[in-house]
Amino acid sequence: MKLSEIFERKKTTVSFEVFPPKPNLPFDSVFECIGELCSYHPDYMSVTYGAGGSTRGRTFDLAQMIKTKYHVEPLVHITGVKLDEAQLDELLNDIEIRGLENILALRGDVPQDGTIADLRFHASDIVKIIKKRGDRFFVAVAACPEMHPESKTLEDDLKYIKLKLDCGAGLIVTQMCFDNDLICRFRDRLHAIGVTQPIDVGIMPVFAAKQVGRISSMCGATIPAGLIAIMEKYGSDAEAMEQAGIQFAADQVTGLIEEGFHGIHIYTMNRPKLAKGILDLTGLLAR
Ligand code: FAD
Repeated sequence: MKLSEIFERKKTTVSFEVFPPKPNLPFDSVFECIGELCSYHPDYMSVTYGAGGSTRGRTFDLAQMIKTKYHVEPLVHITGVKLDEAQLDELLNDIEIRGLENILALRGDVPQDGTIADLRFHASDIVKIIKKRGDRFFVAVAACPEMHPESKTLEDDLKYIKLKLDCGAGLIVTQMCFDNDLICRFRDRLHAIGVTQPIDVGIMPVFAAKQVGRISSMCGATIPAGLIAIMEKYGSDAEAMEQAGIQFAADQVTGLIEEGFHGIHIYTMNRPKLAKGILDLTGLLAR
């Protein structure tokens, strides 16, 4: 099923991001966690694609398993890193043969062992290549509410997000952002330039104080004073910190739904307890 069908039917969607096991771990090491996450009935589950394509086969295997075993619709992430157009086409053939219908099209980042030459495509180019197959796939794209760290200006950032949508993408999935005011401003700016596609807001539950520095340096997300206060208060007590992080994320979700956001996309980090905690506190588990 294409995700567009789900968005047409549902007022509020809840989705999860999961990642496949690292190549050195057995594939079945994620089965328990995936089974548990699927039991919370997400509207779809997105499956990440390792930097530089390192987990490619496992990304698609896991997506297929989610679809066939648990009947949850998967959204497979792909990047164009280290690929040319013919190789991207092969990748799409693989996805098509497996019966997967939804793709999150990403540029990707320069891999640790690579150079800028490994990035041949912007995400909009990848959307165009996918759309050469007509409506065979539903395509989603990424965006950062606080602007992509490489964007020179806010205008450029918004212009290139709009370009991806104009090339045929039907959904925006956002980078994590801990400040609802910034997310609302981002949405308003997109609306002002004519974006009408749904926006799924990426929610990252912070379960450990040390996670935050890493997150912030990775994607440039601002850490609001409220979250800093939580880390200072609970940072040395793992269980209390996890609970406070879940509560913070749940409050964010409640605020976003009140603001009329259509989709909540939880970065589960393959930890069902975090997703369940947020759904419990927001009443979304019983939706
Ligand atoms: P683009 O949309 O291509 O944008 C990248 C930069 O280039 C931006 O500054 C943009 O403004 C600029 N730009 C875009 N088009 C043009 C143009 N035509 N001319 C000039 N400049 C342009 N990475 C992975 O490796 N695997 C994953 O599974 C993965 N999942 C992700 C999921 C989400 C929800 C998000 C938000 C990110 C994910 N990433 C993943 C990270 C992503 O690959 C990086 O954020 C990457 O730096 C940018 O990808 P993009 O698709 O947003 O790129």
